[in-house]
Amino acid sequence: MAGTLYLVPTPIGNLGDISRRMAETLEQADFIAAEDTRVSLKLLNHLGLKKPMLTYHRHNTDTGGQAVIDRLLAGESCALVTDAGTPAISDPGEELVARCAALSIPVCAIPGPCALVTALAVSGQPTGRFTFEGFLAMNKKNRRAHLESLRGEERTMIFYEAPHKLAATLQDLADTFGPCRPLALCRELTKLHEEIRRTTLGEAAAYYQENTPKGELVLVVRGAEPAGEREASLEDGLLLVDKLRGEGLSLRDAVKRAAKELGLSRNQLYDAAVNM
Ligand code: SAM
Repeated sequence: MAGTLYLVPTPIGNLGDISRRMAETLEQADFIAAEDTRVSLKLLNHLGLKKPMLTYHRHNTDTGGQAVIDRLLAGESCALVTDAGTPAISDPGEELVARCAALSIPVCAIPGPCALVTALAVSGQPTGRFTFEGFLAMNKKNRRAHLESLRGEERTMIFYEAPHKLAATLQDLADTFGPCRPLALCRELTKLHEEIRRTTLGEAAAYYQENTPKGELVLVVRGAEPAGEREASLEDGLLLVDKLRGEGLSLRDAVKRAAKELGLSRNQLYDAAVNM
C-alpha cells in the first residue's frame, strides 16, 4: 500500500506559529521533501529533529517529484515542506499533489500559515468573496492580459509580489483599476517589522516609485463596485476610453462609446480625456 504525502505548512516569519501537529507530522514522516534543505534544516534544528531529506523544487519537479513518488509507492510516508507557508500554494507542491492524486496516493494537508489568508484577514477589505491571483507574470504582455481579465472583477483580489517589482505592479494596477481603488499592502506578515498599509492604488504607486520596500509582500485590492448599483464616475469613463483607444478607436469615437455605455456627459468626458 502506498504511503501518504503530508503537506506540512511552515511559519511565514514567526516560529511561534509552529503547531503541535505540524511538528508531530515532521517527526513521524519517513522522509522530508524540502524546497530548500538549508531553510528546512533550520526548522528541524529548532524542533530538535533529524530526518532524511531530499530536495523538491521548481527546477526539479520531474526528477525530484519522481523520487518522492517512487518512495511513496514503496510505502514510505513523506512530509512536503516549502520555504514558508502552505505547500502547493504558489509553489511547486501543486504539481506533486496533482501527480499523487492521479496515482491515488493519499495526500493529507495539515492546516497552518499561509500568507494570502493572513493578509486577507488583516486587510480590512471584504472577505466574503475573494480571488487569489498569485504572482503577475514578468512578461509585460502576459501581465496586461492577466490584469485585463480582472477588469470589472467585484471580488477582493489578492496578489503576491516581490519588492523589486512592486512599483511597476502598483502602477499597472492603478492603470487598470483606477488610482482611487482601495488597497491593503501587507508586508513582513507575522515578523518583527510587520506593516499593514491601508491606502489607494494611486497613493501607493506614487509612494513606492520613490521608496523600494524590504521584505515580503501581499497586495489585497478591493473589487469593483457591483455594476448597476452606483453611477459611473468620470474615472470609470476615462478607464473605458483608455481601453477602447487600446482597441484602436479614435479618441472621439472612444469618448462617444464610453459616454453612451456609462451614461456620462460626452463633453465632460472628452474634456477630461484631452486634459489627461
Ligand atoms: N506557499 C506560500 C504561502 O502559503 O503563502 C507562498 C509561497 S510564494 C513562493 C512566496 C510569496 O508569499 C512571497 O513572495 C510573498 O508574496 C508571500 N509571503 C510569504 N511570506 C510572507 C510574509 N511573511 N509577509 C508577506 N508576504 C509573504
